[in-house]
Amino acid sequence: MTSLLNDWRRTHYTKDINDSLNEEEILIMGWVHEIRDLGGIIFVLIRDITGIIQLTAPTKHIPSEALEEIKKFRKESVVAVKGKVQESGKAPNGVEIIPDEIKILNLANQPLPMDPTEKVKAEIDTRLDSRFLDLRKANVSGIFKIKSRMLHTIRLFFEENGFIETNTPKLVASATEGGTELFPITYFEREAFLSQSPQLYKQMMMSAGFDKVYEIAQIFRAEEHDTLRHLNEAISIDMEASFMDDKDVMKILNDLIYQVIVDVKDNCQDALATLEVDLKVPDKQFEILKYDDMIDMVNSKDVPIEWGEDLSRAAEKALGEMMEGYYFLTEWPTEIKPFYVMPNEKQPEKSHAFDLMYKDLEISSGAMRVHQYDLLKEKIAEKGLNPNAFGSYLKSFEYGMPPHAGWGLGADRFNMCLTGLNNIRETVLFPRDRRRLTP
Ligand code: ATP
Ligand code: MG
Repeated sequence: MTSLLNDWRRTHYTKDINDSLNEEEILIMGWVHEIRDLGGIIFVLIRDITGIIQLTAPTKHIPSEALEEIKKFRKESVVAVKGKVQESGKAPNGVEIIPDEIKILNLANQPLPMDPTEKVKAEIDTRLDSRFLDLRKANVSGIFKIKSRMLHTIRLFFEENGFIETNTPKLVASATEGGTELFPITYFEREAFLSQSPQLYKQMMMSAGFDKVYEIAQIFRAEEHDTLRHLNEAISIDMEASFMDDKDVMKILNDLIYQVIVDVKDNCQDALATLEVDLKVPDKQFEILKYDDMIDMVNSKDVPIEWGEDLSRAAEKALGEMMEGYYFLTEWPTEIKPFYVMPNEKQPEKSHAFDLMYKDLEISSGAMRVHQYDLLKEKIAEKGLNPNAFGSYLKSFEYGMPPHAGWGLGADRFNMCLTGLNNIRETVLFPRDRRRLTP
């Protein structure tokens, strides 16, 4: 009942079909988006990754084999159509296709578990349960076109600035930093963990003399979060650079974010339009807010926060109302940052750590690192961690470790900023949270 491709190949994507092709024979492939059978004439909308085009089939004037196939169409089936382009004032794109030959490549069962034409709005859980259908919607695939462009620009940026792309292990022997919960796994006769961050490895790459490295990869966090901005598997964009301090890598982060926004705005107009996002290009230089001043600002909104505390959700929200767009938070208390963060030389209770925020959302954390073996060992112990568990990491600090700094940027969170979405699940193809491990 269904056909194989054989020698049929697509000649055009729907978005490339316009009146300049009038009267030309073309071949399109895609999904049956909508069927309207008016008796004497059948209208079918065919959708592919680029858009939608109308087939117009006057039943008396098209070959009977083609008509027979059209009559078998069901919503969301996959079809291939050879036909003639015809200008049409009434059709959605100003052109329609009059079919000559049709192949049904795959028939979709009915009823569909969800409607990918957006006529009926579905809850996020229903959508994620049938994610392959949900992703057929232009506004949903648009998120991932933007993400793809974002990652492309990021790679380009790093390559242009002399960074080397690295791939560090995701199976690790012990907790990298403390602080975060890890997923244990069975590694032959031993226990191992899924990596929470490439932190220790990217620092070891500084001792390896690579100077500037970046990595775009999964991180795994076992916390039982139930928020709109945490997942148990996320993508982190990490960089580390030698002979640089926190200010240097903040500038790199600032420039990178700016470049991505400009590039996405220029190259993802269709995707942004389907999401109804008017992406604003921020000021070239993001504002810098010191932790101390942030405390005063948050308190001024009657949200309690004391010096030395991390931002509560209420504090983030209060801050988000006072600060616009992207801004850095700097000079964090040493106590609440990881052991590898360099303390301030004159006031060791403060550190060279920073966060990059977008309104009320943390999107990146970074710092100048401790590169001195003795201090690092001391700081590991101070955090209640066992320096022996960090043997191979610490070793790289004993034989020529340059001063260095770096950051990790949450790719999915940054994508939320670009798409204006407030649930991180929207920005991940198949999200992993406390309740969801499939699809
Ligand atoms: P938060 O305080 O928001 O939980 P964090 O400070 O624990 O984040 P970091 O360890 O600093 O996160 O990780 C660096 C970046 O990675 C974060 O700024 C964020 O963009 C991203 N990230 C961290 N954890 C998650 C997560 N569970 N889900 C999605 N993104 C995350
Ligand atoms: Mg952080």
